[in-house]
Amino acid sequence: MSHGEWSDGTRTVHAGLPEPVPGQPFMPGPQFAAPFAISPQGPGDGDSYGRAGNATLRALESAIGGLEGAPGCVVFSSGMAAVTGLLLSVLRPGDKVVVPADGYYLTRLFALKELAEFGIEVAAVPTEGPYDFTGVRLALLETPANPGLEVCDIAALSAQAHAAGALIAVDNTTATPLGQQPLVLGADFAVASGTKALTGHSDILLGYVAASSVDGLEAVRAWRTRTGALPGPFEAWLAHRSLGTLDLRLARQASNAGAAYELLRSSAAVRRAVWPGADPEAMKQLRRPPGVLVVEFADEETAVRFLSGCELIRPATSFGGLHSTADRRAQWPGETAVPGLVRLSCGCEDPADLLADLQRGLQAAE
Ligand code: PLP
Repeated sequence: MSHGEWSDGTRTVHAGLPEPVPGQPFMPGPQFAAPFAISPQGPGDGDSYGRAGNATLRALESAIGGLEGAPGCVVFSSGMAAVTGLLLSVLRPGDKVVVPADGYYLTRLFALKELAEFGIEVAAVPTEGPYDFTGVRLALLETPANPGLEVCDIAALSAQAHAAGALIAVDNTTATPLGQQPLVLGADFAVASGTKALTGHSDILLGYVAASSVDGLEAVRAWRTRTGALPGPFEAWLAHRSLGTLDLRLARQASNAGAAYELLRSSAAVRRAVWPGADPEAMKQLRRPPGVLVVEFADEETAVRFLSGCELIRPATSFGGLHSTADRRAQWPGETAVPGLVRLSCGCEDPADLLADLQRGLQAAE
């Protein structure tokens, strides 16, 4: 059976690992080095300095790149380092960029401030459109978008953008490469925070850019080498180790989210519940649903009563971790979500305990 035919669980367990060698570990440990020894004649093809990468990073990049269906991938020290690295390595003064009006707020704020100051024209467009790619160099989509979980059609928009001479990048943080493969759907770049479900233990920051073309990827890698925003070997190794359980974690998170969605949508305290797994439009594109939902309460006070009533589900920003968390998004300066909107991230707890906790929160909110 070739690697291309493996299903998700097998692909994640084996992603980026070398062929087993008797007497050697299945997964090599982290390679700690800043300078590497070089020969008196010069560095040759081997590693010479850690800022350009090392074997631990390459193994992780091969794992994530493989899951994304990409010829390669470049890892960064955080999702924002990856997003800004992609934008700054592709865009030049005078270019026009499209960013999501309703996606991760720091991406939008970075574009509207720093990119605009560098002479780049910025259009913030809602994820559901309408889009106009005329004169656009790069459009960054985010689907499902964080926090509202709005979706857009990657294949259709990639075809439209390419016809107008624009490049498409997709922030794949919420879906993860098991939930969606933007490059396979026609996008030029996939970019993501690996801090969320990809690594999933709430203990490391990570980001990556995968590209459909080797040249596109090498421009991003050169950017990273010059600017230096790469994860340390221990974080990279920990991320790779965590990746092995991605299929299992996502399966539990999604089934918990499905059960939570059914409970929340039938509660009188909840104005609106959104979960891509219950949205046929979203599921046309997603390979599997995420463990993240949106729960909208009438106002800030009701949302805070809900958060205070839960005991297991802890208030925290970020999502995709083993532990269920909930975040009232409007508390973060610069975020445009309505005051009663809570992003609920279902973890890997037992469903009965999670549902009982949600009941406690809903009773407090009613
Ligand atoms: N993109 C999305 C969709 C995110 O949700 C986040 C963080 O929440 C980022 C990018 C930035 O990632 P990081 O926090 O790892 O810098």
